[in-house]
Amino acid sequence: MRESETGEWKKQLSECYRSVADFPVDFELSLTEEDYFKKESDRFRISVPKNYFGLAFSDADDPIRRQFMPQAGEHITLSCETDDPLGENSYKVTERLIHRYPDRVLFLASDTCAMYCRHCFRRDYLSTDPPPLTRKEIHRAAEYLRSHLEVKEIIISGGDPLIMDNSKLDELLSIFKESRPDIVFRMASRMPVVLPSRITDSLTDLLSKYKPLFFITQYNHPRELTDKSRQAVSLLVNKGIPVFNQAVLLKSVNDSVDVLAELFQELLRCSVKPYYLFQGDLAAGTSHLRVPITKGLELMKELRSRISGLALPIFAVDLPGGGGKVPLTESYIQEITETAVVFKDRNERIYSYPVES
Ligand SMILES: *Cc1c(COP(=O)(O)O)cnc(C)c1O
Repeated sequence: MRESETGEWKKQLSECYRSVADFPVDFELSLTEEDYFKKESDRFRISVPKNYFGLAFSDADDPIRRQFMPQAGEHITLSCETDDPLGENSYKVTERLIHRYPDRVLFLASDTCAMYCRHCFRRDYLSTDPPPLTRKEIHRAAEYLRSHLEVKEIIISGGDPLIMDNSKLDELLSIFKESRPDIVFRMASRMPVVLPSRITDSLTDLLSKYKPLFFITQYNHPRELTDKSRQAVSLLVNKGIPVFNQAVLLKSVNDSVDVLAELFQELLRCSVKPYYLFQGDLAAGTSHLRVPITKGLELMKELRSRISGLALPIFAVDLPGGGGKVPLTESYIQEITETAVVFKDRNERIYSYPVES
């Protein structure tokens, strides 16, 4: 049974739609999608698993469809946009290892994905088609971990690391674990959302060997929480692997209080903790999906008064040029005096808390 499960995700991966020609005959391009394909310039590749494609309604502005279908906006590059919006290149200590914060590193374990999200901030890196991950690169990163004891955590990211098969993944994690038995793993993958069949008993058994391991995924819309997707998440949760969500704030996908409230509340019902909601990064060709940062602040203010603190993620922006992530909150602090901090609550009432107490 386990073997057939494994076969299933690989089959589904091989059957992804990878060009317009692959789409079903009755699938009609919208005008802006058509405009995108008319223009011959650099294009970020397409891949959509059939099951994810099936979640989209035919409306061209459908929130699922906007995540996998390119639009003419991708040909536009604003002057504030760059190919390396997070300034990651300057923090690379090896080709695939990014060390930006003191106690954690990020490893680019794969350069491919089951689905290419149109809002991807590593779209330029992925488009450079880096040569496949080598054992030597894994060992170089492991060596770095061994010689940098201040690093306590490694984020396995990409691309989507779960595009690797289990044996490769096992090897990767075991090399890191061997170099640093005390390391904390964070696995970042969108597979539970876009290809839930990837999450099998054999995968969760494998991941369980490397605890403490935290699983971070990316649901952006409540309709992505299908029965199959929920089952995939339960496989992880039931094996004692904590699951967190990093959503991206996306125009005409989830830029409304109702959609975000439902998304975060439903995630909580699946035992998934909403961790971050990200303001869109300034990646070239993604302006049609970005929401004004001030609107994001408004949405969070309203959400804060409406949903449980457990369901509420941190709204954050990764500062352009390599400043790293900073939380965005409207301030409740009115004034800090020598004797007190003065607050304004949700209902605009004023409160004071003494400094020395
Ligand atoms: C986002 C990120 C992290 C993790 O940041 P947290 O705030 O701990 O989630 C680590 N390294 C890099 C390079 C990142 O982009």
